[in-house]
Amino acid sequence: MSEEMPLGAALRIGVECADCGRDRWLQPAQLVKRGVTLHTPLRTVASRLSCSSCRTEGLPGKNVTVQAFFSRDADRLRAEAEVLRSQVALSGVSRATGA
Ligand SMILES: [Zn+2]
Repeated sequence: MSEEMPLGAALRIGVECADCGRDRWLQPAQLVKRGVTLHTPLRTVASRLSCSSCRTEGLPGKNVTVQAFFSRDADRLRAEAEVLRSQVALSGVSRATGA
């Protein structure tokens, strides 16, 4: 079962560039002109965005992490869990916290 949450379902989107450390919070609509739509699945948004600062420097700027925040706490927690998973996958660090 794949449950794809679209970009438009989020209240705010946190975009962070791992290369230059730049991060900011945007509304989903502000990202629409940057290669995504409100229907783009959240998990694919990061791969479609690039860091404008890095691109100005002539770098690819594709090392972008996206966090989504929702109006309901349950959704927010789920989104944060998603982000944690992808960050672990990205960094190659897999240190279980245990129970
Ligand atoms: Zn950057």
